[in-house]
Amino acid sequence: MADLLETLWAGGQAAYVVGGCLRDALLGREAADWDLTTDARPERVQALFPRSIYENRFGTVVVRHHGAQYEITAFRRDVSYTDFRHPDAVVFGDSIEEDLARRDFTVNAMAWGAEPGCEPTFVDPCGGQADLARRMLRAVGDPDERFREDALRMARAVRLAATLEFEVEPETLAAIGRSADLAGHISGERVMSELLKLLWASRPSIGLRLMADSGLLAVLAPELERQRGLAQNKIEGEDLWDHTVRTVDAAPRRQIVRLASLLHDVGKPDTLADGHFHGHEAVGAVMARDFLARLHAPRVLQERVAHLVLNHMFSYQRTWSDAAVRRFIRKVGPGCVDDLLALRAADNLGSGQPPDAGGLTELATRIATELTGHAVLGRHQLAINGSDLKSELGLPQGRELGRLIDDLTERVIAEPALNDRAILLDLARQAVTERGLVENLNS
Ligand code: ATP
Ligand code: MG
Repeated sequence: MADLLETLWAGGQAAYVVGGCLRDALLGREAADWDLTTDARPERVQALFPRSIYENRFGTVVVRHHGAQYEITAFRRDVSYTDFRHPDAVVFGDSIEEDLARRDFTVNAMAWGAEPGCEPTFVDPCGGQADLARRMLRAVGDPDERFREDALRMARAVRLAATLEFEVEPETLAAIGRSADLAGHISGERVMSELLKLLWASRPSIGLRLMADSGLLAVLAPELERQRGLAQNKIEGEDLWDHTVRTVDAAPRRQIVRLASLLHDVGKPDTLADGHFHGHEAVGAVMARDFLARLHAPRVLQERVAHLVLNHMFSYQRTWSDAAVRRFIRKVGPGCVDDLLALRAADNLGSGQPPDAGGLTELATRIATELTGHAVLGRHQLAINGSDLKSELGLPQGRELGRLIDDLTERVIAEPALNDRAILLDLARQAVTERGLVENLNS
């Protein structure tokens, strides 16, 4: 990165490292991406870095250097915002101070670099270093104004509080409370991206609690807001929202499991009757999918999270036969059992129980045994397939054939020794005769 600054300086330009990457470097955290700002206009930056890419809209030139990505943006100045989200125009600024003043939080409004011909210095007009030492997120300038300009900053505040384990300065937090309604202007994609970053924190509860207390949750996830104040006889004095937040913190850092933890009981408020939440997992699965669809999450993610929510209420018994364990794997899907068990362990912890309550550890061991033993769990592992049945028994392609394969799969899941070509063909012949399929087929 020093090379890039040197190139700009040598070209007679002012150039600084700026924003979140500087903050992360000062915190000793690995920065996700590096941002440079300069008085050079994009065309000039491109001329200095011939292999760069110019992203037209925001005046940002992207340079790949030693495998890392650097974004070089010309100084910018704030202009009016009419949609509570995007500035009406991108206007280039004249100074580093002006550029820092448009940034969201003081810890993100520091720069290190130099004007042409000068020694590099640290530029911190908003007191970012002091706030960094206090571990505090404070809006640059008037917080009410800043959040009304761009509602995304409110979501960034709670997300950064969680990932950095910072507090939000009280005036800044109060301003979020006053502008929370405007969070409805943030696009689904941006909400999703901030939510995923928040859930990636060691303790997502920091951000989730701030969302709830500031009113952002009610706007961004009204279905989760409804968990607040709903009694739940798990941990004394805690409500359903407390349980959800605990569960998310207890979940391993895997995107799917964290999302499923957040949404696993989303169906409870709607299904509450006589002190029970009957069928909440089925209602919750639909709500989870709808929530993620609203945030434009990829379809596979929607489906996988919904699937985990739908299946999270399983109750394992030590008396389950091995066949029952195999049927469980088949129902959940071999690729999903790990996530489901992780969700359930988190749910246990969120309920004030030991993580392996309900025999989870034993179930996990039994599942591992089945999986490493290459047990038949689906039709693809069967010793015969549709073509065999067609050629050996003369069955035509169709629904009956599919059903027959499913039946044979069930038999083999129950009794693995049956997974032999000759045995399965015999069983198929019997089934065909018993069901009178032959007559149907011949007619
Ligand atoms: P991270 O990279 O960890 O997600 P970040 O703070 O670096 O966090 P970026 O999206 O990389 O976030 O933004 C880089 C910098 O741009 C920020 O540190 C901040 O100075 C500024 N910035 C980003 N979004 C906004 C915004 N909505 N309003 C004002 N300044 C912003
Ligand atoms: Mg960044």
